[in-house]
This record gives sequence, structure tokens and C-alpha cells, in this order.
Amino acid sequence: MTATSKKARTSENISLERVFATGGWLARHLPQYEFRPAQLEMAESVEAALADGRHLIVEAGTGTGKTLAYLVPIIRSGQRVVISTGTKNLQEQLFFKDIPFLKKMFPELRATLMKGRQNYLCRQKLYDMEKQPVLNGVEELSLYTQIRQWEPGTETGDRAELEGLPDTSELWARMDARREACTGQKCAQFERCFITWMHQRAAESDLIIVNHHLFFADLALKQSDYASLLPDYRAVVFDEAHEIEDVATKYFGLQISNYRFEELARDTEGTLKMKGLEAGDVLGAVRGLRRRGELFFELFPASEGRASFEDREGFLEAHRSAYSALANALTRLETELGRLKERPEEVNHLARRAAELREALAFILEGSSRNFVYWWERRGRGMFLEAAPIDVSALLRERLFEKVRTIVLTSATLAVGGRFDFLKRRLGIENTREQILDSHFDYGQQALLYTPLHLPDPRREDFARHAAEEILAILKITRGRAFVLFTSRQQMREVFDRVRARLRFSMLLQGTAPRTVLLERFRRTPHAVLFATNSFWQGVDVQGPQLSAVIIDRLPFAVPTDPVVAARIRCINSDGGSAFEDYQLPEAVLALKQGFGRLIRSEKDRGVLVILDQRLMRKAYGQVFWESLPRYRRTTRLEDVEIFMREY
Ligand code: SF4
Repeated sequence: MTATSKKARTSENISLERVFATGGWLARHLPQYEFRPAQLEMAESVEAALADGRHLIVEAGTGTGKTLAYLVPIIRSGQRVVISTGTKNLQEQLFFKDIPFLKKMFPELRATLMKGRQNYLCRQKLYDMEKQPVLNGVEELSLYTQIRQWEPGTETGDRAELEGLPDTSELWARMDARREACTGQKCAQFERCFITWMHQRAAESDLIIVNHHLFFADLALKQSDYASLLPDYRAVVFDEAHEIEDVATKYFGLQISNYRFEELARDTEGTLKMKGLEAGDVLGAVRGLRRRGELFFELFPASEGRASFEDREGFLEAHRSAYSALANALTRLETELGRLKERPEEVNHLARRAAELREALAFILEGSSRNFVYWWERRGRGMFLEAAPIDVSALLRERLFEKVRTIVLTSATLAVGGRFDFLKRRLGIENTREQILDSHFDYGQQALLYTPLHLPDPRREDFARHAAEEILAILKITRGRAFVLFTSRQQMREVFDRVRARLRFSMLLQGTAPRTVLLERFRRTPHAVLFATNSFWQGVDVQGPQLSAVIIDRLPFAVPTDPVVAARIRCINSDGGSAFEDYQLPEAVLALKQGFGRLIRSEKDRGVLVILDQRLMRKAYGQVFWESLPRYRRTTRLEDVEIFMREY
């Protein structure tokens, strides 16, 4: 079946209106359903975009019910559509909740859930491991036994089916189906491979549910002519579309790390052992690669952090020999692998990986494209070197918006000052329909936005001290039950330390436990207060009075010293634009909308939003923020917060 040949899978007589109307199909099948005009409007726009082959941008506030508003017209269209979400959680919610529900109306609907390859088991690796299990400790042994027993019966090979498998399991990392170690059609397990099965299911499906990471990884693979995972499709819907510039930037770039070198060395040794091959000089080449890799990555500062690598010429002048030695070590490994008498496909594959790594190393160290920014980053034991496109608009225009017939971009945060100019410019979209739908919530009644004017400018040194006092006063009124969100870790730490001894509510701090664990603790602990940075600004949903305040330390302008941000600023300014107005300000507006968006998640939610940054009121650009935020009730007086909470 092609992406275009299917018939619509519903009783064609049911109009969208009769699906969404009061007393309509949804009302009869969903106990809490309530007619929302914006939801129907969005569904009609999506239907028209699919029918006419046009792109569409829809900002739909929280509570619009946008998932059903795009799912119903997509299914009715009979086209094969890819839905790309911001997170795995949203993917799973669509696949396990919304789609089974809609099957009552569209019984023939076929949908597939696709995640990144690392989520699936590689049968070949498992079988290889059975011959020579190398397991560290009792825990790995028990996990290994669990995986062995699960493998023959699972239909998906998806790690999500394995209870108790830690996110960071090293054992799983040695058994997953990642592309680097996969020999594809030459693999003896290819016909039974979980990736092959997933690909086949997708080719027979009407809906394919992916996340942005998989989507752009796939798009980048198409670019380099490797087999892609996704079959042909007619349209794409990006939910949480505000994230796609960042994700595309990551996948259109190149990255190398000490881990990648170590994995190549480890896999080479493992393959020789597993296949019982005569090693020749390969093991010597592996030792050389390890040593050269260590020496090369030690050349970068030992402290954690991320910094520009723009002065690559200077680096090469000082360290040309270490770089050449590493590149030569890769060439030597490739050559020695090619010299082996017996060369099963796994060996050829390792040689190709060595060549790919050498090319990536050369691109990052010597590449001369002006559209790329280069940086290094040290995280824990990892040392990463990256090259990323400064501007992805041309790439996206050429590979996505001009290739795919209909693309729908939706999220609660896409517009700045009531317009989509920023998004369109950053993503390279032209000729699109646009729609901004009001939220179903009554923000004027449900939320109070408090901006204290007596605090110093957040750029001043004594800001943290004053901010801590203000936060204590607010939390006393709200009786905890708050997210306190920061734009930097350092600021979060400092304020947390100042507040800790004087707060009688349970305090949670980002970084002390995984995100999901912290969130669960927050939900379960009465009056808890969570201190966090960027990873809690979006994709977090806590309904009810347990979250009654969201306090944000300052306007979330991206850090101008970050290499990618700095390169974008330079690029816009040198093209005659204004980086502040065209990039930094709209980015910050969208980030603030996201952060505040954590508070009101249902019609019953009420609470206080606080921004401790007086620039929102005092600077002329504050107006752009005001024009972009929902119509919250506003105040600059703490007494009003008290009154508002008393009414609560
Ligand atoms: S085809 Fe690739 S992922 Fe699948 S079993 Fe074989 S090596 Fe593993």
C-alpha cells in the first residue's frame, strides 16, 4: 500500500462537526467530554490542510484538546501520516490511549509506534553474548536472565516491556539495536529482527507515531543515503513543534566523543573473540587507537562544561601531531581489519565504522563550512566534539517543507506577539496557513501573575539574596506547592542553599534524583517545593492544588556565551539583522510561555505565576512578553497574592 492509495477509514457520512459537537460521537463515548469550539476549528483546519496539500501552523493553548483535533481528520483523510511528538511519554499516550479509543470509530485503523533503535533489543548481540556472557555483578546477571526469557515471546523487542530495567543500564547498551553495530541485511537474524518487524509494521500502517529525535535522525540518514526507518508518508504532524529547531540542529550536525572511540575498540575486540577469528595485527591497532584517543581527548580542559571550538586552527597548530596520530590510528585499524583472512560482514562493518569516525573527526577539526559552529563539551567521563549547523532553515526547507505535501506544526507556544514570523524564519517555512486558538481556560480567573518591582536587576550580584527572601515570602502564602524554576544551575544552587534552612516544606532539587522520580515525589509529598532548571520548563504536567505556584527567577534569555547561541547571534548581526529582536527576544518569550504553562493544566487549576525579573515591567521589550502571554490577572503587590490565595 502506498502513502496515498487508501480509502478513508470511517463512515464517510460523519462530519467533523458531528464528531466534536455537543451530543456528538465524542460526547457519547468520552464521559468527561465537553464541546470546545477551538478544538473543532483546529480539526477543520487540519482537514483542509490535508485535503489541499498545504502546510499549517496552529498554536493551540493547553486544554484545547489538540490531540483529537489532529487525529480525527488525519484518520479520515486516509493518508499515511507520521505524527512526531516531543517526548516518548506523549508517543505512548497517543499509541496506548488515544488511538485504541479512536478505533471504536475507525475499526480498520492501523498504527505503529516507533522509537529510536536503542530502545530495541538486537537479537544477534544477545545470541553472541550467550556464547560468551561478560556480566558485571549479580544485578546484570539477573537482568540478562530476564532479557533471555523475554526475547522469544516479545513481538516488539521494546525495552519498555522490561520492568525494572534502569534507564542507564550498561548491559542494555551492549545489547541494543543501534545502527553503528548493525550489519543490516547481511545479519543472520535480519528477517526476525525487531527493527525489520517494526519497519514492516510501519509500511502497513496508516499512522506512524515517532518522536522528534527519531524523525530527524531518519531525515538526516536519508540525506546520507542510508536506509531509513520510515516508509513513504504523505504528511507529518509535529506536536510540541517548538522543539524541532533544536532537535534538527542536533541531527544535521556531527558529533564524536571518547565513548565512540572506546565503543569501536570494544566492539572490534568482542567481534574477533566471538567469531573466533585470527586477530593478526588488529589487536595492536586497537591498542594504538585507545592510546591515541586518550591522548587526544586529554588535550581539552578537564573541568566540566561547554565551550567554543572556533579556534580550530590554533588548536591544530599546537596539537597537529596528536590529531594526525589519532586519524592514522583509525586508518591503521581499517587497514588491519581489511587484511584479515576471514572477513565476515561484522568485520567489514567495523572497518566502515572506523572510516566514518575518521571522516567525522576530519570534518570537525578541519571542516570549513561557514554555516557550522564547532564546540566541545565535557560531561562526567564523556568528552564530546561537535559541529552543528548555525541555521537549519535552508536544510529544512529543502528536505522537509518542499518535499512533504502537508506539514502541520502545533504547540501551545509558537507565536510571539500574535505572529509566527520567528518560527517561520527559523524553520524556513513559506506558504503556510496560520491559526492561533484561544485556550479553553479562563486565565483571567485561574491565574495571577505577580511581578515584584522592589527586587534588584537579576544581573546584579546581590540578586540571589533578595530573590531568596521573596521566594520565602511567596511560599509562605502558597504553603509550598510550587515549582521554582531557574535559568542557570548556579543560581538554582545558591537560592536553594539560602532558602533551605528556613523553609518548613519538603524541598526537592533537580539533579539529586532522575527527573521522573523527582516529579513523582513532588506529586506525592504534600506542600513540596521543587527547585529546577531547564528540563522542568516543559513537558511536565502536574494537575490540581499540589502545584499552586510557578516562580521563575528571570526572563529566560539564552546564555549568549553558549557556542550555538553566540554563533547565531553573530550570524544574524553580520547579515544586517538584529539578533536581539529577531532571535534572543522571541526565543525568551517562547521559553517563558512554556515555563508559565506548567501551572494551569486543567479547568479546575488555579495558582500564582511569579517572575522575579523587573525588566518585564521596566524595559520597552517587556511589551512583547505581555502581548504573547495569555491574559493572566496581573499585579506587582504581594498582598494581592495573599488575597488571591485566600479565595482559592
Ligand atoms: S539486523 Fe541489526 S539490529 Fe537486527 S538483529 Fe541483526 S545486527 Fe541486530
